[in-house]
Amino acid sequence: MNTTTLSTTDKGALVLFSGGQDSTTCLAWALSRFSQVETIGFFYGQRHAVELTCRHMLRDRLLTVFPTWSTRLGQDHMLNLALPEKGSNAVMACQADSLPTTFVPGRNLLFFTYAAATAWSRALRHLVGGMCETDSAGYPDCRDDTLKALQVTLNLGLARQFVLHTPLMWRDKAATWQLAESLGGAVLVDLIRTHTHTCYRGDRTSLHDWGYGCGTCSACCLRASGWTHYIHTKGGKADTR
Ligand code: ZN
Repeated sequence: MNTTTLSTTDKGALVLFSGGQDSTTCLAWALSRFSQVETIGFFYGQRHAVELTCRHMLRDRLLTVFPTWSTRLGQDHMLNLALPEKGSNAVMACQADSLPTTFVPGRNLLFFTYAAATAWSRALRHLVGGMCETDSAGYPDCRDDTLKALQVTLNLGLARQFVLHTPLMWRDKAATWQLAESLGGAVLVDLIRTHTHTCYRGDRTSLHDWGYGCGTCSACCLRASGWTHYIHTKGGKADTR
């Protein structure tokens, strides 16, 4: 098919899907709203690349557990990107600006730009990402204003009317667990708890109440505290259904 003849519809979405808690919640969010949902992931040499190995299992599990979503979930796209390595001049300059050491310059801008290029060729209008201001440690490319500006830029540059969705933008990690529960009940919460990966060290040797991880890196601490707060707001009851 000649892609130049494609026209976007309002039914299609492309989800930035890494295999972590946030992006999996976003995938469920998209599957509950759009009739055609595709996923895109990026390999850029990240240390916690283990989450990428969770992607296929998560997609399979979602289809098994939620058969009503099975007709909606389409292709998975995987792209290799070259991003600055840790310790490069760019990263050192960022650290001097008090940005976290986990900040990869321009990462999320590139993710959405590559996603938009893919969505353009797939005739998908809606782009969904798990960026948020609440827990993002101050990443400037996760800010609401940044992504609103990027939406305008992409629409001008690609001559489309994409809509960038960030359903987690104003939610903390506890609220993200609550969103997952509202979308798929305790079954989805447990699927995300046991099958997603967040740990910066790529540690999947120990299953904690909040999921797998080393339990000491910043990503694990954030996930653990969010889970504790989520359980507390539920009255101290973990998933039993
Ligand atoms: Zn960890």
